[in-house]
Amino acid sequence: MYGCHVSILKTLALTYQNAIQAGCTAFQIFLGGNVTFKRRKIDEADITKVKDLRLDQKSRLFIHSPYVFSLINNFERTMPALRVELGLVSHFSKSAVVIHSGSYKTLSSLSEGIRTAAANIRQTFETATNPMGDLLLENTAGQGKLLPEKLEDVAEIIRLAGGDARLGFCFDTCHGFGSGLVDLRSPEAIDAFYEQVKKQLGLERLRLIHLNDSRFGFGSRRDGHALLCTGEIWRNHPEALRYFLQKFKDVPMVAETANWEHDLSTIEKILISGYSTESVKQTLKAAGAPTVSQKMCAALGQMAGEFVSQFGADLAAAGDLAKLVAENQEKYGFLAKHLEELKDSYESMEIGEADAKETEEKAGRTGRKRISAEDKAKDSDSDYTPARRAKSDN
Ligand SMILES: [Zn+2]
Ligand SMILES: [Zn+2]
Repeated sequence: MYGCHVSILKTLALTYQNAIQAGCTAFQIFLGGNVTFKRRKIDEADITKVKDLRLDQKSRLFIHSPYVFSLINNFERTMPALRVELGLVSHFSKSAVVIHSGSYKTLSSLSEGIRTAAANIRQTFETATNPMGDLLLENTAGQGKLLPEKLEDVAEIIRLAGGDARLGFCFDTCHGFGSGLVDLRSPEAIDAFYEQVKKQLGLERLRLIHLNDSRFGFGSRRDGHALLCTGEIWRNHPEALRYFLQKFKDVPMVAETANWEHDLSTIEKILISGYSTESVKQTLKAAGAPTVSQKMCAALGQMAGEFVSQFGADLAAAGDLAKLVAENQEKYGFLAKHLEELKDSYESMEIGEADAKETEEKAGRTGRKRISAEDKAKDSDSDYTPARRAKSDN
C-alpha cells in the first residue's frame, strides 16, 4: 500500500474518499495545524462514515503529530493532544500516529532522553481512560540532539516503555539517508538494513515508511525532502528504489512532498518496470510450476509489472505473482487460466540451452497476448474498477 501525505478536508470521510480517488492506498494527514497543540475533534458520525467506507480493507490512514509535540520536553502539553490522536486511530485497524520524539538537549545524556521518552509513552498509555491506538516513533536525520536516530534507540525506547504491542517504528528514508543509517542507493545496504530491523526491532514493529528522496547527501545530518528520483538518493539509482519497494512491499509507504502526483506516478513507473527474474523464479517454484528458463522468468516478470500497472493491484499484493492470482481468483481468474496454459505448454519441455530461443519466442508471444486489448476488454465486464489514479473533481 502506498500514497502520500494529504490535507485534511472538511470531514475525515471526505479526506479519505479524496485520497482513494487520487490513487492512495495509504495516506497521512495532520489532525490540525502542524505547529500547534490544538487537534481537531472528529465526531462519531464522521468516524462511523469512514468505517462504513471500509477504510481497513481498502486503505490505511496515518496521522502525523504536529512538530511541537515532544516526548521529552513539556510533555504535559503534548500528552492530552497526543491522546486525541491516539484515540482517533484506535477506531481503525492498522492505523497509527507517527511522532517525532523531540530533543534531549535539556537533559544530561542520550540515555536520559531515551528513559524520559519511554516513561512518558508508558504514562500516556497506562493512565488513559479511553482506547488508544498505535504510536510509531520516526527516525531523525541526525540533526542536533533529536531522538531517535538509530534503530537501537528506537528499540530501547520501546523496551523501556514496556514493549506494548501498540508501539512501532516509522522509517523515513530521507532521514535514514541523512543520518547515515542506511545508504539507500545500494541494494546490499538495503538488505543489511532489513536484517537490522528484523534483529533489533522485529519486522512487525516497522509499520510505516516515509518514502522521500533527499536534497542532501548521505550522512549530511540534514533533513530536506525531495521528490522521488530527483534527490541525492535515487536520482541516479532508480533501480535501488525499485529494490527498496520490493524489499519492503509489506509495509505501507507514504511520500511526504508537495507534489504527490509526481511521487505516485514515480512509484507506479518504477513498479511497472517489472519484477526481478530471481523473484519470479522463486515464485514459480513455490507455486509448484515447472522450471523455466531465465529468459522466460524475465518475460513473466515484465508481464507481472505491466499487469500491476493495468489493474492497479496494490503494492503489498504485487510482489508475489502466484499469491496475487491465488488470492484474487475473481479479479485475476483470467490470468490464472493463462498461467495454466503456460504451465501446460512447458510441462513436457526440458528447458536447456537448445530450447532457450524457442522458449524466449514463446514467452514473448504469451506475454503480449496476456496483456492484449482483447484480454483487457474481456475483463472489463467484471465489477472490478481498477484503482488507477483518477483526477479528483475538485
Ligand atoms: Zn517523515
Ligand atoms: Zn523530514
